[in-house]
Amino acid sequence: TSKSSIATINPATGETLKTYEPLSDEALEEKIGRAADAFRSYRLTSPQERVGWLRAAADALEADTDAVAELMVTEMGKTLAAAKAEAGKCVTALRYYAEHGPAMLEPKLADAGAVGAEQAFLVHQPIGVVLAIMPWNFPLWQAMRFAAPALMAGNVGLLKHASNVPQTALYMEELFRKAGFPADVFQTLLIGSSTIERVLRDDRVAAATLTGSAPAGQSVASIAGDALKKTVLELGGSDPYIVMPSADLDRAAEVAVTARCQNNGQSCIAAKRFFVHADVAEEFTRLFAEKMGALVVGDPMEDGTQVGPLATESGREDVERYVQDAVDKGATVVVGGTRPDRAGWYYAPTLLTGITPEMDLYDEEVFGPVAALWTVDTLEEAIDIANSHPYGLGANLWSEDEQERSTFIRDVQSGMAFVNGMVTSYPELPFGGVKQSGYGRELTDLGMYEFMNAKTVWIG
Ligand code: NAP
Repeated sequence: TSKSSIATINPATGETLKTYEPLSDEALEEKIGRAADAFRSYRLTSPQERVGWLRAAADALEADTDAVAELMVTEMGKTLAAAKAEAGKCVTALRYYAEHGPAMLEPKLADAGAVGAEQAFLVHQPIGVVLAIMPWNFPLWQAMRFAAPALMAGNVGLLKHASNVPQTALYMEELFRKAGFPADVFQTLLIGSSTIERVLRDDRVAAATLTGSAPAGQSVASIAGDALKKTVLELGGSDPYIVMPSADLDRAAEVAVTARCQNNGQSCIAAKRFFVHADVAEEFTRLFAEKMGALVVGDPMEDGTQVGPLATESGREDVERYVQDAVDKGATVVVGGTRPDRAGWYYAPTLLTGITPEMDLYDEEVFGPVAALWTVDTLEEAIDIANSHPYGLGANLWSEDEQERSTFIRDVQSGMAFVNGMVTSYPELPFGGVKQSGYGRELTDLGMYEFMNAKTVWIG
């Protein structure tokens, strides 16, 4: 499968378009050395200089949007419209840090008198070379969400991207070079995941961030723990989507379809488990099924396509296995449940009801366009089942009732809670999870400070 080698394989056809040799030990050693050298001078550049480079990167990416969007479609199968939107969001994030970064880097004054000092303050300083291990599902955005704040902070990045998006990974490096950043402040490492340990343990690498599956997070966190290095982990999710009787049902069903099927069903913050109050369950299920069934599945390059193929062959096999297991254990397929009869790794948008704890999808994550629906009698019941899952990334509630909204915000175990809208990552809002969805936050000042030394300064 695509995971065993570094290659571009078009998910819409199954065709291998380009393969890459992983870096040799010597080449890897040299790149780490260059990153460490780059940090020595990059950390001394001014915030204003970095702002100029970030703005140039935003402009360059804006100009490259069509080309890089096509590249993403070819490498992982998202629709062209979604790929363009992803590039646009990256431009916004670059400009966000260009605009707000300098203020985030200002010293924060403390009460000097209270600590017997003439001056006392907190200053955030870059920590060095940070390794970013990233997934293929938002190949530009996931990497940019790390890169923009890291480069604003004065850190240096090494990107180990997923093995199936090497060209997008190389584009990232090229983008920062084109923007005029000093040499080697952002390099892509074409390496397999088995080489990550060697990079993580290298004394010249200060920290790591990983977005990906829980097993990958466990591995990176344990190695980094052993080496006493800071990590940020953005792992899986199985976000609940709760619909209460006061909700605008048609709107809730419309958004439910997007929340589940965005990115061909392969988003960490996709709504995956739907909890619908018994009073409206029948009506909501009907609307949801109707809209899922109406989605246009097809070539992701074509205008009008709403759902493209899954990114990898093994990814589709996983989805099929989850559905089969649920059906074997009594679930009902309301719509979908089949593999369309065409080349490429397509899977029909699917709605399952009658979910029970014995089913594998009950407490795991289905990374494809498959929605699991529960009927519940109360909000508390929905929240209890939602919270019984090991993940806690985002959560959605549809309700017009103030009391229900505050109960949801107070009790749901997640890093993000969205009411009457779907969980989305915005450059302007912190992003991250709790429990096995990981720890730490990305975006905003919180994301930038994760990889900075908050240095206390006392001057007497
Ligand atoms: P994955 O297999 O964990 O891959 C993610 C990255 O980790 C890739 O660069 C991969 O490299 C690397 N990797 C794989 N196994 C590793 C290991 N044992 N040690 C170190 N690195 C390893 O993830 P995926 O299945 O492709 O992606 C989907 C998962 O990512 C889902 O669980 C999804 O929810 C999660 N995700 C989370 C977020 C978030 O922000 N919380 C965002 C997007 C996706 P190779 O490609 O070379 O194997």
